[in-house]
Amino acid sequence: MTSSTVQNVTILGATGSIGRSTLDVIARHPDAYRLHAVTAYRSREALFDICRRFAPAQAVIGTREDAGWLRRQLDDAGLERIEVLHGDPALLEVSRAVEVDVVMAAIVGAAGLMPTLAAVEAGKRVLLANKEALVMSGGLFMDAVSRHDATLLPIDSEHNAIYQCLPMQQRGGLSRQGVARLLLTASGGPFREWSLADLESVTPAQACAHPNWSMGQKISVDSATLMNKGLELIEACWLFGAAPEQVEVVVHPQSIVHSMVGYADGSVIAQMGNPDMRTPIAYGLAWPARIDAGVAPLDLFAVSRLDFEAPDEARFPCLRLAREAMAAGGTAPASLNAANEVAVQAFLDGRLSFLGIARLVESTLETIEVRAADSLDVILCEDAQARRVAETLLHQRSF
Ligand code: NDP
Repeated sequence: MTSSTVQNVTILGATGSIGRSTLDVIARHPDAYRLHAVTAYRSREALFDICRRFAPAQAVIGTREDAGWLRRQLDDAGLERIEVLHGDPALLEVSRAVEVDVVMAAIVGAAGLMPTLAAVEAGKRVLLANKEALVMSGGLFMDAVSRHDATLLPIDSEHNAIYQCLPMQQRGGLSRQGVARLLLTASGGPFREWSLADLESVTPAQACAHPNWSMGQKISVDSATLMNKGLELIEACWLFGAAPEQVEVVVHPQSIVHSMVGYADGSVIAQMGNPDMRTPIAYGLAWPARIDAGVAPLDLFAVSRLDFEAPDEARFPCLRLAREAMAAGGTAPASLNAANEVAVQAFLDGRLSFLGIARLVESTLETIEVRAADSLDVILCEDAQARRVAETLLHQRSF
């Protein structure tokens, strides 16, 4: 690539698992990508290291105090020209900056919604890892993508796989492309074979030890409860214009087939590769071209077999809860997501059992009413309400 085609990139959530993988891919292609801005919430040392390595134009951290600390470190390191910002308004600023071509949306949870939407509204190429943003705001988010002519590329490995297996021209609906169904693969998480009785005593450390993927804490717990697959089901419906019944979840413990598309003529197209997020990240950065991601070639002889089984919704009810929330529509997915964020944090803090996560989410959804998700204000209001209800229930009852 020539210097005129260098892409300026903002990484929201640069200190996280996806953020670090994105930095790894960018570092392999210094002539093609330049880091414009990086953001973190609390990890100031990690953000300082990234600044030293990549010298972005801007760095954003959560608080004024940490911003002061980072400013002093950068000055001492001779990096005075890196601008340090803090807080939510700064996240919006670096998402919509005119110099920026590509925004990697890799903040975890609802906190990523507003900066991701800001990138969409500025018409950027948005690499969407932050699935919670789309789950919360579904229709509004997709409307904004088309209204502002943004390019939305899914980074979740399953949705990235589906994107790769669909015809290039996806507009016009799945059925007009001859697509019968989307097959969303799930590893099944670390407790795929555990009994319900054993699941009662799962610890946060066990839940965060995923067999195939190395990820942040929240998504690791979501993978263990299968809420991650539930959120992904909702994400797939919005991204590809699919009805919930067109999305089939298939447990595939090896995580080699990242998802599939089934066509009307009986063909099933799969995307395969080693479980390494650098593949979908590189795809998103370079699309429609392909670049080296640093990922080892897939050795099918070493893999040797691929297994597929149906998910067990009795042991993992979160999948059902997500499907029901999508079917209920309106603000139900935003409430599901908010209740789940409270439940996962409570589990990580030792205030809720593993099986209590699904019970708390279900009780929260039973307590609040579904409203039409016709504005961002309504969605944010319902998100806050679901968090309040979940916290109250957590104090009132034992789950
Ligand atoms: P991590 O927990 O590893 O990283 C989260 C990032 O978001 C960190 O940079 C963190 O900063 C920042 N952050 C956290 N809270 C806030 C906040 N309130 N305001 C601003 N920034 C914040 O998460 P992952 O990288 O695992 O996941 C990121 C997103 O990508 C999630 O939505 C996840 O579902 C999705 N995803 C992740 C995959 C993976 O393999 N990890 C795969 C597919 C999707 P700090 O370090 O300072 O806390």
